[in-house]
Formats: sequence, structure tokens, C-alpha cells
Amino acid sequence: MRYSSSARTSETTEAIVLKVREVREADVVVWFLGEGGSLSRGLAINARKSSRRFLNCLEPLSLVTFSLVRYPSRIVLKEGRLQEAFLHLKEDHLLLGFGNVVSETIVRCMPEDDPHAARFPLAVEALQWLSAGRLDPMLITTIFLVRFMTVEGYCPSFDRCAICGSLLGAQERWVWQLAPLRCVCATHHLTGSLKWEWDREVLRFLQSVRLMHLEKTWHLGLSSSKRQPLFMSLCRWVETIIGGELKSYRWLQKMAMSQRR
Ligand SMILES: [Zn+2]
Repeated sequence: MRYSSSARTSETTEAIVLKVREVREADVVVWFLGEGGSLSRGLAINARKSSRRFLNCLEPLSLVTFSLVRYPSRIVLKEGRLQEAFLHLKEDHLLLGFGNVVSETIVRCMPEDDPHAARFPLAVEALQWLSAGRLDPMLITTIFLVRFMTVEGYCPSFDRCAICGSLLGAQERWVWQLAPLRCVCATHHLTGSLKWEWDREVLRFLQSVRLMHLEKTWHLGLSSSKRQPLFMSLCRWVETIIGGELKSYRWLQKMAMSQRR
């Protein structure tokens, strides 16, 4: 819903709150993914003092409806209404850790104000499945990352060797390399770093995640021994793109190590 008057536009949008930061006395800057699939930053003026306008709406990983005014150089949030808090996700610190990988990846990989319709349903469904707690959260987050990278245009097709052109069915062992980014038969000698050896099951899984209807991808299976190495390499991939550490992933790693002790 939109109406314009000269340089400003008022609108209402569904949004996922990704990150918030308090500024000055009571204002809050909110990073959110709008229903049009664009990452935006809005200012909620005086939100900490008059919390009625944004009741339970300024918590990361919440689905809300924002009324906002868009000016040429900034967005001002007028009001928010909570649609879905994903409470189960927030009450379980491990689920929250995976949810944070979703939000941090969006905030750090996506340019602001560059819409793509596929992003919003992808993020909402990932949070719904994480919060439902019925499927492996690592696999859900893995599927989110592969779809996200596909939408952002980073993802290779995983259907043939980048060196000799062999098709997926012709080889059993494959190597997925991040620096430089390529997927090749394991028989080639590779220079460069960040390499993982995958078998056809992993590559078929990646291909299916890229191509299947979104609703169906969440039920894809993968052998449990392959889940952690795949998740790890996808997070490292995000890190090569952002040129730094994905903090939420590093936190999950620390958690996993402390549980092993
Ligand atoms: Zn090859």
C-alpha cells in the first residue's frame, strides 16, 4: 500500500527485523527485509520511550508489519505490528544461533535497497522451519544458504566440472573449492585454497536445493555425516564474500566445541 506526496512516499510493508541498534537517547535504527525482498534501514524515532507504537516489534528475527515514510535519503518507521515472534526459535539458544546465521548473512551479503522477490519468502520459510523445531536446524540453515547464494547470483550450477566439462553423473568424487570458486572432478590437480571433497550425493543435494520449488526443498535429506562439513563450507563461503568472520557461525562453532568437551 503506497501513496506519494512530492518527495516522500508512505507505505505499509511486511518485514523481517534483522538487526537493531539504539542511537541517541531513545531512537532505534532497524535493518529489515521488506516483503518486496529488499534490505532497508529505517529509523524508529523515540521508539524506546513510546513503546506502544512498536510493541514487541523491534526484536531481531520477528515478522512484523511496518508503516513507514520513505524520504529520498532515509526511511522513518512510524509504527509496527507484530505478526509472528518465532518464540520457539528465540527460547532455544542453539536454534537462535542458526537464526542469527540467516539474519547476519542477509545483512552482510545483500546490498541495501536492491529488491528481489524471492528473498522474502525464503527468509520467512527458513525462520518458520527453524522455529517449528521439527527438522534439523543445521540442514534448514544449509538449505537457506544455498538458495540465498543462488538468488544473489553467486552459486555455481553444480552440474558439470569447471575444468573438463564432465557431467555430474560421469564422476563419483568431486572437489568444491572456494578460492578460486569452482566445482571440479576430484582427479584434477588443484592449486589455491579452501577445498572440500564431495561425493555425488552432496552435489545432487545442492543441485536440488537450487532448482526445486521452495516449499519442497525443506524436506530434502542428506546423510548426517555430510551435514556438518557442508554447513561449515557454506559459512566459509559467506565469509569469503563478506571478507571477514560470520560472527553467528563462529559462535555456533564455539558452542559445538564446548559441547564436545
Ligand atoms: Zn573434470
